[in-house]
Amino acid sequence: MPYTGRCACDAVTIRISGAARAVRQCWCRHCQQLAAGGPTHNVFFKAEDVTFDGEVVWNSHSADSGNTLNWAFCPKCGTQLMMNSSARAYMQGVRLGAIDLPHDLRPTAAIWTSEAPGWAVIDPALENFAAQPPAIPPSQN
Ligand SMILES: [Zn+2]
Ligand SMILES: [Zn+2]
Repeated sequence: MPYTGRCACDAVTIRISGAARAVRQCWCRHCQQLAAGGPTHNVFFKAEDVTFDGEVVWNSHSADSGNTLNWAFCPKCGTQLMMNSSARAYMQGVRLGAIDLPHDLRPTAAIWTSEAPGWAVIDPALENFAAQPPAIPPSQN
């Protein structure tokens, strides 16, 4: 199932050639900073299935899990576009907000909910992980 995506100013476009492996809502403190107070929403694909055109800036930090988290944004408009982790370089996360509509993607798990603010409303239908969930396996398809 192919997906396309873009930043808010259209300077960066994304093409995805494979199926989504997971969609996660992350409430870690770092994601709250990147997402202006709420959680990030990240859809994961096989790394080789994701390509993009345009200039992005990558940044990184050492996560509480001990992994290095890398994230990419558009330097013109600031849209969060992609993320990945040193623990699973075979996966490329794409920020759900950057995926073009219409699409069928929705989060199935909320993670790092122990760091969510007290006012957060977390859908009880989502699988809930207080901290880092188990890694997405390298290949299921
Ligand atoms: Zn942009
Ligand atoms: Zn997070």
